[in-house]
Amino acid sequence: MEQKLLRLNLYTRTMKIKHFLGIGAVALLVAACTTNPITGRSSLQLANNSEIMTMSAQEYKTTLTKSKVITGTADAKRVMSVGSRIESAAERYYQQIGRAGDLANYNWEFHLLQSNELNAWCMPGGKVAVYTGILPITKNDNGLAVVMGHEVSHALAGHGNERISQAMIAQYGGQILGGTISNAQWAGIFQKVYPIGSQVALLKYGRNQESEADEMGLYLMGMAGYDPREAIPFWNRMEAASNGERQPEFLSTHPNPETRISDINKNLPKALEYYKAAGGKI
Ligand SMILES: [Zn+2]
Repeated sequence: MEQKLLRLNLYTRTMKIKHFLGIGAVALLVAACTTNPITGRSSLQLANNSEIMTMSAQEYKTTLTKSKVITGTADAKRVMSVGSRIESAAERYYQQIGRAGDLANYNWEFHLLQSNELNAWCMPGGKVAVYTGILPITKNDNGLAVVMGHEVSHALAGHGNERISQAMIAQYGGQILGGTISNAQWAGIFQKVYPIGSQVALLKYGRNQESEADEMGLYLMGMAGYDPREAIPFWNRMEAASNGERQPEFLSTHPNPETRISDINKNLPKALEYYKAAGGKI
């Protein structure tokens, strides 16, 4: 049944793209559809992941140079340890389902940056930053795992590649399919999606990507042994703290808070199964 639905979903997406680009495009684009093994959602991923990861690594390095990186404190250690547990959980899961290769080019890093913003992000390849401003809202390791699980999920689900693919098609449709995009064009696309400098946090994901990161993040935190039930009080704290001007990445393109909470409740039983399997007490 799931397979059928997936195929139908792929077919629908392909038909939409076919309509958009013309018949000749279809074979290549079907091959470029990737299925997220944790959520089952398929997405269009045309860009080369190893190129994206190389550029991300450079961008991450630049951002760290321009930021105040906190090291050696209890908070910095917590960011490292929660991140590492989520990383290990993801690696175990991808290994179990025979997709360890998906993470082969990852080079995980977790850093705490001094900033009042309520924010965190993860670039492709596992480059994670958490801002000190969000720690009072995360409150504890479970809350931090909600944030980091969500951000890591954006990377694991290839949301950057998906955004880049959308931008590539919008800008160079025909050329992309002929494989003639130049390095300069490619760099331009990357910079559009991931603005160079310290503006990484301005990256905006789509609403369906936000929902997927919520769902996948909930499962990942469970797999890593963090109580996924804590996601609800965390998002409530987040909502209360961010009214008005400060719109963090998590809230900018997301459905309203009620939808978010009801989606979490829907996905909670599966997340709790993962949590139980990881030794968590229900
Ligand atoms: Zn997000």
